[in-house]
Amino acid sequence: MIVTLPPDLIAKFEKALSRAGTREIGGVLVGEHVADEEFRVVDLSVQHSGGTDSCFVRHPEKHRRFMRRFFRRTGTDYARFNYLGEWHSHPLYLAVPSATDLTQMQLIVEEGANAPLFAVLLIVRLDGSERIELSATAFAPGSVPIQIEIGIQPRPDDDPTIPAPWITWRWSRPDWWRKKDVNRRKD
Ligand SMILES: [Zn+2]
Repeated sequence: MIVTLPPDLIAKFEKALSRAGTREIGGVLVGEHVADEEFRVVDLSVQHSGGTDSCFVRHPEKHRRFMRRFFRRTGTDYARFNYLGEWHSHPLYLAVPSATDLTQMQLIVEEGANAPLFAVLLIVRLDGSERIELSATAFAPGSVPIQIEIGIQPRPDDDPTIPAPWITWRWSRPDWWRKKDVNRRKD
């Protein structure tokens, strides 16, 4: 399984983690099913309250609201755009899931009729130079969790999931500086 993150979400993690200090924060991940075994994370919610130095407690209502808005934005195309998993920070510990984290994620994919077929858990932390360190683990019902690689990949130009217009400008026009040539008159 391939999971990718766009650079603007790395920046979002860095900003949120820097603000939270030694408090754990977290939220949910939503993604696009790009190809057979390939997903990209397209947005994430950030819950700043409810965390301590060593634990993060999810407030489901806040994340449900985030999910509703995401589904509306992406035309309720659930096969393509859907819940992808969870994330939280480990400001004082290694960026790997704890035993409790593993148990909780396994429950998410195994409990109830609406349980997702799989889910990803991202654990993030800032290293000494305020850069993101992360690990990703994939969970499926009846399987042992597997660690997966996360690739960093820019958003496609026509990304329909962009929450704010400025991100489109910033990440989809790497050639803005060529404008000068475009405007040059051909004599
Ligand atoms: Zn944890």
